[in-house]
Amino acid sequence: MARVSQVDFLVMGAGVAGLRAAVELARHGDVLVVTKESVAESNTHYAQGGIAVAMEGDQDVALHLEDTVNAGDGLVYRPAAQVLVAEGPVRVAELIEWGANFDTEAGELLRTREGAHSLPRILHANGDATGAEISRSLAAFARVHKRIHFAEWTTVTGLVVADGRVIAADLLDRTNHLERVSAGAVLIAAGGAGQVYSDTTNPAVATGDGIALAAEAGAELADMEFYQFHPTALSLPGVPRFLLSEALRGEGAYLRNDRGERFMERYHRLLELAPRDVVARAITREGMGATPADARIVHLDMRHIKNLDLHHRFPGISAFLSQYKLDLGRDLIPVRPAAHYLMGGIRTGLDGRTTLRGLYAAGEAACTGVHGANRLASNSLLEGLVFGARAAQSMLDDQLPIETAVAPLAVPVPLNDAEEARLEELIAKLQGSMWAYSGLLRDESTLRLGFAAQEACAAGLEELVAQGKGSRRLAEARAMSRVAHAILHSALARTESRGAHFRSDYPKRDDERFQKHSAFTGDGRVAFQEW
Ligand SMILES: Cc1cc2nc3c(=O)[nH]c(=O)nc-3n(C[C@H](O)[C@H](O)[C@H](O)COP(=O)(O)OP(=O)(O)OC[C@H]3O[C@@H](n4cnc5c(N)ncnc54)[C@H](O)[C@@H]3O)c2cc1C
Repeated sequence: MARVSQVDFLVMGAGVAGLRAAVELARHGDVLVVTKESVAESNTHYAQGGIAVAMEGDQDVALHLEDTVNAGDGLVYRPAAQVLVAEGPVRVAELIEWGANFDTEAGELLRTREGAHSLPRILHANGDATGAEISRSLAAFARVHKRIHFAEWTTVTGLVVADGRVIAADLLDRTNHLERVSAGAVLIAAGGAGQVYSDTTNPAVATGDGIALAAEAGAELADMEFYQFHPTALSLPGVPRFLLSEALRGEGAYLRNDRGERFMERYHRLLELAPRDVVARAITREGMGATPADARIVHLDMRHIKNLDLHHRFPGISAFLSQYKLDLGRDLIPVRPAAHYLMGGIRTGLDGRTTLRGLYAAGEAACTGVHGANRLASNSLLEGLVFGARAAQSMLDDQLPIETAVAPLAVPVPLNDAEEARLEELIAKLQGSMWAYSGLLRDESTLRLGFAAQEACAAGLEELVAQGKGSRRLAEARAMSRVAHAILHSALARTESRGAHFRSDYPKRDDERFQKHSAFTGDGRVAFQEW
């Protein structure tokens, strides 16, 4: 039988949202931060471009709000965006005080610009390693706190619900040991789900576990059809889709098709700095051949930029490219879009409360409506800070007692080699089908093919579960399948195109019917609601 223990607050995830929340919670109780790998492994760690923040007073804040609302294509929940931009400066100032070092020149913070921002407002660190610096500084600050405890290399595999409230979570460590931990409040800060797609900028931990567990426990998901595809991931055969930050275009990079033409003028007046969905679809269209085998290569071109030391400004990107003998100042860099950021997620209010008592969510796993149908570049690190702190405050305010969870747990049986291989096959098929059928361009027929693939995957996974099998990878596969299910249902129901969701069979935006958020409750039904 598995061990049972308890803690005041349980935080699932050690990215920016989870760590920021933990710091707040530790002022009032013991916090257990659970993370699938080391604390350093999260989407946060890989964030390159920077953190958007308006630190120059009211007018600056108002402009940041307008840019956020405009990028979201009519669906940003304005009160959430208002909170983000207004509280952002305080949260960033606090982070600097706690030890985050952003790039400066002559004592002034340096700011860059990215797509759809009306002015340079993005702080960065070590050139293009902003996330790593935020993760490092927050983790260092949290680690010295006596009331924050870390469970690394540990996977949350289930939430325990009693009388309509989440009272505990199941934790599986790397020796397949299972523990049930009761907590007064559980925060899901487990990040996004890029791994649902075969082509993604996200690390392996981003399998949507938090979203899937919340849905399974009965919490509502929102806006799951809106997955942002980053326009420029490196496109080399057999090489991961390494992100080539939007900041490259912010510093003047051009996009060129296989004939060497700059093509963005045919798509948007902001050219290479148009909203991400527009740029991503433009690259897809320029790269399409008559058949998939004829696909044409689109390139990012910085060869004309002479007034900037590209290696100094982008040291991480330059170092990665040099492994493949590519140089930003000398070569055309092959690019293609890849799944990057989930605007939807677990529905929360402005305070991180979900629709289920005792369960809170923040960061990329949550959906406050702050990004609407399309996230403004570099708004998500800020989101993690602002809403991580807010969710923690609600967990403190609610003062829910710890209920002891006594239910005995069956200890999972590890998978054998053949089963592991079968599991990887099921996952790869799911990821490939999501990319092919529910990616940048979708329609009813492709989405129905996506359902068939997802159902086949789910059936294969449940066969393993029925035999009492369990592992981190099996839990991740089930999460990806569940998240795919929610994306497909939500994408099928939204018969319009908006932001990151482009339906080839409904190419226009339809405000009359769909200027609303989608709600997915797990039973396959999608409702549209005004917030
Ligand atoms: C390559 C890349 C570049 C980016 N660049 C930028 C940028 O420049 N600016 C910007 O604002 N945003 C950027 N983003 C997006 C941004 O990094 C993320 O949206 C943000 O960091 C999410 O933070 P989070 O705290 O919500 O989750 P994450 O940072 O993803 O953290 C999730 C945590 O949850 C843990 N976890 C997941 N599942 C489980 C489980 N079952 N059990 C236990 N733990 C679990 C993970 O191990 C991890 O610790 C980028 C993203 C990527 C991938």
